[in-house]
Amino acid sequence: MHTLFDLTGKVALVTGSGTGLGAGMARGLAAAGADVILVDRTDPDETAEAVRGLGRKALTLSADLSGLPAIRETVRKGIEAFGRIEILINNAGIIRRTPAVDFSESDWDDVMTINAKTVFFMSQEVGRDMMKRKSGKIINIASLLSFSGGINVPSYAASKGAVAQITKALANEWAQHGLNINAIAPGYMVTNNTANLRKDPERTRAISDRIPAGRWGMPEDLQGAAVYLASKASDYVNGHVLVVDGGWMAR
Ligand code: NAD
Repeated sequence: MHTLFDLTGKVALVTGSGTGLGAGMARGLAAAGADVILVDRTDPDETAEAVRGLGRKALTLSADLSGLPAIRETVRKGIEAFGRIEILINNAGIIRRTPAVDFSESDWDDVMTINAKTVFFMSQEVGRDMMKRKSGKIINIASLLSFSGGINVPSYAASKGAVAQITKALANEWAQHGLNINAIAPGYMVTNNTANLRKDPERTRAISDRIPAGRWGMPEDLQGAAVYLASKASDYVNGHVLVVDGGWMAR
């Protein structure tokens, strides 16, 4: 069974891997054997140290992935260093909280760009390289707001709905080329993304009360799902959105 999940010799690229869920998943892939290209707006040095501590290679690339030139340059540098990218985790994302009635155009555009547009064009750029080998694993980070609308985060909900649909659209076109495109929808996780939400004691308690597992998730909680979707174990899984939420959606 072990070989089903073994990533030894594989090259992964994880966006937004300087902190939070991306850092956790990058460490998980490295623990399963992968070398990792770490991309973030600031240098993801701490994650690189952890990957190297697990005996794997790490390349750090500092880039703001909200534009096509930066996306292309990042993928080019990754392939130049490692020769290929076999696993892509589209994790980088942001959230803006304001009631819909006052929501600004920039809060709409900024979130839609990195959370949705970048997911598509990173996939396109890396997907072209994967198609040459007729294999590759793309994992998009969706959200519970891929399924429901949320409160005060309209562009985030729209962008994460788009992530689920991009996942299915690409799976429909690229499964025939040997690529697996799937998504992970994390529940409520302890990262910078939820720092402001966790400052509100009432919302925090209401959310905690609805989680059957009785706790918020930690970045480590996504490692199993990430390794599964990055490995041979998921070769016949296409266009799936895997919820990892301590049971929130079952409630
Ligand atoms: P985080 O803020 O801790 O990490 C996000 C990372 O993405 C940061 O390192 C940030 O620098 C990077 N990033 C943002 N914009 C970027 C850009 N333009 N270019 C390059 N890097 C950029 O948050 P997180 O919770 O770890 O979020 C990771 C992903 O998980 C996001 O897509 C988020 O929407 C999603 N998510 C989080 C939760 C949660 O509860 N924390 C739940 C569901 C989904």
